[in-house]
Amino acid sequence: MIRERYYESSNRANIWLIQGSTMDLVVDTGLGIWHLPSFLKERGLIGGKPVQAVASHVHFDHSGGLHQFEKFAIHQLEAEAIRKGDNFQTVTIFFGSGEITRPPHEGWSLSDYKVRSAEPFAVLEEGYVFDLGNRRLRVLHLPGHTPGSVGLLDEEAKVLFSGDVVYDTLALIDWVPHSDLSAYIDTCRRLRNLSSEVDIVFPGHADPFDGNRLHFLTSEFIEKASTCRHKLFTVVMQCLSTMILKAKHSGNIPAKCCFHACCCCYCFK
Ligand SMILES: [Zn+2]
Ligand SMILES: [Zn+2]
Repeated sequence: MIRERYYESSNRANIWLIQGSTMDLVVDTGLGIWHLPSFLKERGLIGGKPVQAVASHVHFDHSGGLHQFEKFAIHQLEAEAIRKGDNFQTVTIFFGSGEITRPPHEGWSLSDYKVRSAEPFAVLEEGYVFDLGNRRLRVLHLPGHTPGSVGLLDEEAKVLFSGDVVYDTLALIDWVPHSDLSAYIDTCRRLRNLSSEVDIVFPGHADPFDGNRLHFLTSEFIEKASTCRHKLFTVVMQCLSTMILKAKHSGNIPAKCCFHACCCCYCFK
């Protein structure tokens, strides 16, 4: 698990490195304002084997660093947003001022930030398999939080990487512009059915949890999301967030490159 040390926000995403015998896989890539591949190489965590990255979904806190990897994958429904560097779909407005406690370089400004466009090496759909030699991770298409959210399931190790579809301690987000509440409920039903086959979940935010907790969190969401009150809340929040995002992104955002490779910019455990 890797986290961006100088990004202090509830949006700070977990970055996962899965080391295989023939290939390493980086699951989610953070903001992309520090250079993740350099950090991984300097720490001896990658190198000597091919490495690929995969985004659990398109949001900036997970996809911002994709362009730093020669080979990366994202679900087919969100590939175009990365090709275009679409800062509406990547919801960069939720990157708040004051959340960067040590800028990547002098003069760095939040207004310069955008998710950079890049061409995916692989476009994912349900059933795609990442073969790392001694372990295989199967892609589950889990729409709801975003249309192209994916989970990665290692059936042999009983491990699930869940992205933002389900995590513990924070409320699940079902109201951003491209969220779909009924798809999210179906996804949670699917994960609840899967929970007995999962020993540990590595989520997009907060700490790992077990299959029992996965059963509880998905059940809780299904119950809450099925109420009229919650449906109304979601509609209102989705309208508001869409309006704000559209207003914010009506102007051109400069696409400045702001890299700084620094070993202390990430925490690794
Ligand atoms: Zn997200
Ligand atoms: Zn997130």
